[in-house]
Amino acid sequence: MGSIAAILFDLDGVLVDATEWHYVALNRALAVFGFSISRYEHLSAYNGLPTRKKLEMLSVEKGLPVSLHGLIGCLKQIYTREEILSKCRPVFEKEYMSSRLKREGYRLAVCSNSIRDTLELMLRQSGIYDQLEFVISNEDVLRPKPDPEIYLKAMEKLGCGPDEVVVVEDAPHGIESARRSGAHVCSVVGFEAVDYLLVKGFVDQIETQVVTT
Ligand SMILES: [Mg+2]
Repeated sequence: MGSIAAILFDLDGVLVDATEWHYVALNRALAVFGFSISRYEHLSAYNGLPTRKKLEMLSVEKGLPVSLHGLIGCLKQIYTREEILSKCRPVFEKEYMSSRLKREGYRLAVCSNSIRDTLELMLRQSGIYDQLEFVISNEDVLRPKPDPEIYLKAMEKLGCGPDEVVVVEDAPHGIESARRSGAHVCSVVGFEAVDYLLVKGFVDQIETQVVTT
């Protein structure tokens, strides 16, 4: 075994392609009250943030009444669940990556800004859940990404230092969170790019550097 003991994955944009599901679900919930968000706005500023943070931004930018946050949040979760159940399926590259990395002795976990129900449902539907040692949702931390708390908490659970951990992240908020935790950050351009060779290649590169320096 090399110097890397554990690999922590972000969920959306890494293990599942959930951006569109969150976008559709949020817009369905907003539409009930006559509000909407464009794809561009979602991708450029909102993607990867927890729903409550998105709603705070919508109140500042579009005058969404704060009193509606609770109801819209509930509707959004119902619609997200519908999207996941109808669209989230196992993807060969992700199943192969997680099962092989685990077989090679890496400890695997997921750290996501999603709520626990959504996170677990997506991982079960994707066939990845059983490969993971644990998952940490935004309900398990006080400060979501870009704060590093979620990754620091994962390292504490693992009993590993940041130099023994690789984080796989796609979005700016997540990359910032991972960098601030001190772990090695494998930043990926999106869901399609994530497979065994990419992650293993990154891990090998770090382990080689450790050996030669
Ligand atoms: Mg992400």
